[in-house]
Amino acid sequence: MNSILIQQVRIDDKFSDVLIEGNKISMIFDSIVVDADKIIDGKNKALIPGFANAHAHSAMTLFKGLGEDIPLMKWLHDYIWPYEAKLDEEMVYWGAKMACLEMIRTGTTVCNDMYWYPQVCKRAMEEMGLRSVQAYVWIDFFDKGRAANHKINLEKMYRESLGWSDLTQFSVGPHAIYSVSSDSLQWISAFAQEHEVMLHIHLAESQTEYEDSIKNWGVTPTKYLHNLGILGPNVVAAHSVWLSPEDIQILGDHGVCVVHNPNSNLKLASGYKFKYDELRDAGVRVCLGTDGCASSNNLDMLEAMKHAAFLQKAWRRDPAAMPLQELMTVASFNGYQAMNVHAGKIEVGMLADLILIDLQQSAFVPCHNFYANLIYAANGSAVDTVLCNGRILMEEKRVEGEAQIFEMTAKMAQKLITP
Ligand SMILES: [Zn+2]
Repeated sequence: MNSILIQQVRIDDKFSDVLIEGNKISMIFDSIVVDADKIIDGKNKALIPGFANAHAHSAMTLFKGLGEDIPLMKWLHDYIWPYEAKLDEEMVYWGAKMACLEMIRTGTTVCNDMYWYPQVCKRAMEEMGLRSVQAYVWIDFFDKGRAANHKINLEKMYRESLGWSDLTQFSVGPHAIYSVSSDSLQWISAFAQEHEVMLHIHLAESQTEYEDSIKNWGVTPTKYLHNLGILGPNVVAAHSVWLSPEDIQILGDHGVCVVHNPNSNLKLASGYKFKYDELRDAGVRVCLGTDGCASSNNLDMLEAMKHAAFLQKAWRRDPAAMPLQELMTVASFNGYQAMNVHAGKIEVGMLADLILIDLQQSAFVPCHNFYANLIYAANGSAVDTVLCNGRILMEEKRVEGEAQIFEMTAKMAQKLITP
């Protein structure tokens, strides 16, 4: 079994050795004497769990900078969806590779992905060594013919997923209540429950979605899903910015996971009063995501964390809101829990999805409070070394194949915009 020994690394305020055997953490002790296959010197480094990006559209790295500064619906209809119609497998593959590179560089070790050609995104993620959940994306615009095609393709992809490696899970991804019919939503939900897979959906993202739902169906988006019988602990709802007090209770009662995407919500002006405290207190598992690069422009979870913290403090006018340790849990452990993966903490028996932070830089000197330095002062460039499933994906900021990814992604992005 392959073993890695990380020596004298900072974990919170203490220094320890950490032994990884196979894909798990097998020992954490002051001093471990063992003949390991690989030794990492932890001097001037801190060890933390890798980040769990709980809502992303990986290959949208290709859309970075396209259709900026316009409203959400116009952005979707005039830019994103027409460009997406031009995507082919090669473009998605390189877009996803670029996303993997950025996620590794900024310390993300698992990604809850939702994008076209999920089997291609899966291949890109696995080649780069990343863990992911790949959603079968379903948009039918209330068209029965499209829904019928989706059923066939979803079932086919699910059958294929039974042969996937441990790194990748399958999920169902009905896009949103305004792009998927109620019949389809119920069918997808029944499928997800029968096969015990995640249902990943955008929910209550914008004021327009909220108001249209009340106009069309007489209830809020959350109540609409509740009335369809869809909400449960396998549901991961991205955004959930527009919620009534009853909605929050419904999400809590059903053990739904909600993913906060502060950068995307801020940039698309979807809303900023994310009800973190209320959701947590109602029993919702709140996770953190970046959303796609078309709306957040990067996949840096540390930036998303800083914005999440500052947003809570600002709109609540409470500097004690969203404290550091809680935010670490939201950005790592909660996301892993939502994806049913036993990682997100540095404990014996946990999967070795871990990152080393380089402390030899201005953000960490002095180091009165490590997590304050990490989240408020540093950004993703502080990540030095990344391990996922016990494998080193980046060491001392070097990732294999980076030059080719830059070159091919630029080429694919050019192909996308060429008429
Ligand atoms: Zn999204």
